[in-house]
Amino acid sequence: MRPICASCAIEYAVETCGATVVVMQSSGKPYELWQADVWYCPSCGHEIISGFANNPYCVHYESNFAIEFAKVMERKHTGTYGPVYLVYESVIIRDAHGGITECLPQ
Ligand SMILES: [Zn+2]
Repeated sequence: MRPICASCAIEYAVETCGATVVVMQSSGKPYELWQADVWYCPSCGHEIISGFANNPYCVHYESNFAIEFAKVMERKHTGTYGPVYLVYESVIIRDAHGGITECLPQ
């Protein structure tokens, strides 16, 4: 099933297939490279990144990571092959009742 906008209660639509997501460490170093899709709510226009591949296509410890990351950053500047997003993984801290108390970048 497609993602659903909680505010509008309708399914998101695909905006871009094949966006690149760079997962960053809090130190600012790139960690993983992923392919995903960008979806938007046709009603309110809210966007999300979802539809991730099963695995990253390149990880920081692989020998070709620096080359692949450089290619991604070049594409980010030229805008070719879809959008590029740099994101930080989050740490979700739950209270004793399961509520989220903090969501911090790692
Ligand atoms: Zn919406």
